[in-house]
This record gives sequence, C-alpha cells and structure tokens, in this order.
Amino acid sequence: MGEAKIIDGEAIAAGLRRRIGEEAARLKARHDLTPGLAVVLVGDNPASRVYVRNKARRAEEAGMTSHDHHLPADVTEEALLSLVRGLGDDARVNGILVQLPLPPHIRAEAVHDAVDPAKDVDGFHGINAGRLVTGAADAMVPCTPLGCLMLLKHHLGELAGLKALVIGRSNIVGKPVAALLLAEHCTVTVAHSRTRDLAGECRRADIVVAAVGRARMVEGGWIKPGATVIDVGINHIEGGSGETRLAGDVDFAAAVKVAGAITPVPGGVGPMTIACLLRNTLVAACRQNGIEPPEI
Ligand code: NAD
Repeated sequence: MGEAKIIDGEAIAAGLRRRIGEEAARLKARHDLTPGLAVVLVGDNPASRVYVRNKARRAEEAGMTSHDHHLPADVTEEALLSLVRGLGDDARVNGILVQLPLPPHIRAEAVHDAVDPAKDVDGFHGINAGRLVTGAADAMVPCTPLGCLMLLKHHLGELAGLKALVIGRSNIVGKPVAALLLAEHCTVTVAHSRTRDLAGECRRADIVVAAVGRARMVEGGWIKPGATVIDVGINHIEGGSGETRLAGDVDFAAAVKVAGAITPVPGGVGPMTIACLLRNTLVAACRQNGIEPPEI
C-alpha cells in the first residue's frame, strides 16, 4: 500500500478565508455592513497572545473589524463578565471570543454563558451546545470541530454510514466533533481515558479524530488500512539538541503508511480553526442583520 494522502489544512483554510473575504466584501457593498469580531485576552500566556494576534490579523485581512480587549491576569470575574455582557450590547460587535485558558479564579462556564448566544462565535454557550446536539440550524458550532468536519468532507465527500472514532470527550473538541459526525449520519464511538481496548476501537474505524493532548499516542498499527485520520493534538515535544517542536496525537510517520488520508501537525486542523472563527463571525453578522448567511 502506498502512502496516505496528506490533507493540506493550510491550503484548505486559505481557500476558506478567501471565500469569506469575498462574502464580507459583498456584505459591505450590498448592506454597508462590516462584521466585527471582539477578542478578549486575560493575562499574558505567550501562546494565547500569539493566537489572539493571529485572529485579529486574519479578521482584518478578511475585511472585518477586530476589537481587542486585553485584561490583566488578576481581573475579577465580575469585571470580565461585565465586559463580555457589554460587548453583547455593542452593535459594532457581531462575534465575541474569550481566549482560553482563563486564570483559575475565573469560572470559564460563567464567562461562556455571559456571551450573547447570537454572538457566540466559539459555540461554547450552553444554548449553542444544546442547539448543536439537537440539530438546530442556527447553532453556533465550535471552530476546531467545524474545521475537522470541513477537512473530512473535503476529502471524503459523503460521510453517511462511515464508522467514526472520536478520541477525547472535551466540551471544546471531542463532544462537538461527535455531535457533528452523528449529524452527518456516521456511526460514532467516543473514546476517552477509561476506554478499554482503544487500539481495537481504532482498527474498526473508517474515520479517526484524535483530540487527546498526548504526543503520538495513536500508533500506526492501530489504524485501519485506508482510514481517514484527523489529528487535533498540539503537543510540544523535545526535538533533540534542546529545542521543542510540535507533534500531534497520532504517530504520523507510522500512520501515513497505513491510512488513506491524514492531517499533519502543524498544517492540518490548526489553520482551519481561525478560518472557521471568521466563518462564524460572518454568519453571525448576517443573522443579526436579518440577512441570509452565505453557504460556506
Ligand atoms: P482536554 O484535555 O480537555 O481533553 C482530552 C480528552 O482526552 C479527555 O476527554 C480525556 O478523556 C481524553 N484522554 C486522555 N487520556 C486518554 C487516553 N489515554 N486514551 C483516550 N482518551 C484519553 O483537551 P482538548 O481541549 O479537547 O484538546 C485536545 C488536544 O487538541 C490538545 O492537544 C489541544 O492542544 C488540541 N487542540 C487543538 C486545537 C487546534 O486548533 N488545532 C484546538 C483545541 C485543542
């Protein structure tokens, strides 16, 4: 068997961002509407600072306005909730994102639920989580799971009837990915830290989505020949001679010899996340203004 097709998340995300930019330009021309994205950063986590800067840059490249709010790590929960609620009332803001992780004295669920569900471009509000599970058309779907689904559809087209294994059951990745695949009529299994025989579950799966956070945990020999593998994991590992580098949750070098298609890390799911954030912001802006959102 030859090597798997590498699913190029960079290229697919670039195409998606271009289409979003075109739709944003159309909104401006036809409705004089510029979608606005508010990104709230609490504290000085270096990785978060990079993500937030990239989100703002990509939003502006796509013709959107970005509203950045940087709060100190010791901000009170009440002050953060008040900012988030204020953004809900700000007509210039169509999408609100509060960058995770938050400091330990702030309850993430309280913050998620303070976001206006119509502006909840991260899809973490309980209302949007419920809409996703019940299949409501107006659910705001979390960005990384939506990116995983887009990559799968890009490669496979129709997903109905396929057996999908989602490894990880977080509210941010695993559970929404499982809900999306179920809505696509896959037969979905969700594996987690208590799963017995993870290797056996993998060997039966046509689709594997790995979202665990453990470098190279999924072995090449666990993959069913020809399966499609989406690797969500971002792990910093020792790269030899002191520097660190990124690795996914899947042993890429081994899995690429067995799978039908696989996402690399970096360059797979990661770039799709920001592109889907822009997509959600565009859709939110349309809905808030009574405009039919484009199909993207
Ligand atoms: P999490 O820690 O909240 O959840 C991890 C899940 O893995 C848990 O549900 C747990 O039950 C499961 N798990 C742990 N050990 C296991 C084992 N031995 N076998 C099977 N399951 C096991 O993490 P998360 O927020 O869902 O993120 C998962 C990974 O995805 C991380 O590496 C994170 O950095 C990455 N991530 C990437 C993006 C992106 O844009 N590419 C976005 C979000 C998260």
